[in-house]
Amino acid sequence: MSQLLSTDPEIAALVAAEEQLQADTLRLIPSENYVSAAVLEATGTVLQNKYSEGYPGKRYYEGQQNIDQVETLAIDRAKALFGVEHANVQPYSGSPANLAVYLAFLKPGDTVLGMALPMGGHLTHGWGVSATGSWFRGVQYGVDRATGRTDLDQVRDLALKERPKVIFCGGTAVPRTIDFPAFAEIAREVGAVLVADIAHIAGLVAGGAHPSPAGHADVISTTTHKTLRGPRGAMLMSTEEHARAIDRAVFPGLQGGPHNHTTAAIAVALKEASGPDFRAYAAQVVGNARALGEQLAARGFDLVSGGTDNHLLLIDLTSKDIPGKVAAKALDRAGIVVNYNSVPYDTRKPFDPSGIRIGTPSLTSRGIPASEMAAVAEWIDRTVLAARAGDEDTVAKVRAEVKELMDAYPAPGLPVG
Ligand SMILES: *Cc1c(COP(=O)(O)O)cnc(C)c1O
Repeated sequence: MSQLLSTDPEIAALVAAEEQLQADTLRLIPSENYVSAAVLEATGTVLQNKYSEGYPGKRYYEGQQNIDQVETLAIDRAKALFGVEHANVQPYSGSPANLAVYLAFLKPGDTVLGMALPMGGHLTHGWGVSATGSWFRGVQYGVDRATGRTDLDQVRDLALKERPKVIFCGGTAVPRTIDFPAFAEIAREVGAVLVADIAHIAGLVAGGAHPSPAGHADVISTTTHKTLRGPRGAMLMSTEEHARAIDRAVFPGLQGGPHNHTTAAIAVALKEASGPDFRAYAAQVVGNARALGEQLAARGFDLVSGGTDNHLLLIDLTSKDIPGKVAAKALDRAGIVVNYNSVPYDTRKPFDPSGIRIGTPSLTSRGIPASEMAAVAEWIDRTVLAARAGDEDTVAKVRAEVKELMDAYPAPGLPVG
């Protein structure tokens, strides 16, 4: 990146430092990943110079000879990979994608049913502080207190009582399989549009490691940058019936010109995700999460819902007598990057909650096998104990051990040239 270095050494230095950080740390944030060098290259292309409001063959600007082909490739690959009738690859990110769903199917004040944020749902599923909860009437379901799993009886009761126009399933801190057929049955019973938000699990769905919502949900919303391992972006997929409503909501309803460099990188990621290596990756993400969960449970960590079916673990640290934020900051000093997170029925505040959320996509993309999860669990345990005791020497020792494992499994896409 010699040009960047000469034009703006400050930014170049920060990019280089971030690259080093991503190389040297054990990144356990479940929504993060390492994209391939090919995806990174696509995001840094001249496609970003082009304006393309509209859709392939129906643009408001000329000069789309190449862009139309790029977007068509992305659309066709999304349809083939996810087995859907329609795909829109233009949403700027997951939150705008979900906002487009509201624009397509609801009027302000209409009712939407989604999972509550503190129970594992996403802000954009009708939570109060989000536009989706203040412009629309958000009704929220949760998880069962005893099992930590989605309470489908509660979902059905709420749907029958509140008559939502849209029901969201999926979330951002849900460690268990989403039962798409059950949600579809409830949506059909009340005449609601079912939206499966697979932002977190899209890579697992694509790789055959989580059941697909295709054929069950009317609309599938996803980011492209989490387990799917593409650029920051999003897609809305649907049945033919809803294709026009979705497309009109994204453009001209909500957005202007699509980010063509991102579209190209999405196409590349979708190509990668349709290969056999990706199936192995998806299976390994889940295998690693399960192994890590077992190792943590054996060390007395309290896993919400008792374990995981997917790529993430939600840990209630109450039993370890340490708040989530204190643990997360100590782990960061040890080179283990997680996020603090509310747990269902949390008695602490969202900015200072009881839990942490961890996931295995990034470490799996580095090729780290399940046999290393015992070491990872031991580091987490040792760091949490050290944080409680104010023992920074131990934290520093863990940091060195983490670095050693990271050196043994270099991250894809790094170093950037
Ligand atoms: C991450 C996420 C989003 C939002 O994606 P952004 O790209 O951060 O806007 C939406 N829904 C779910 C379930 C998510 O996990």
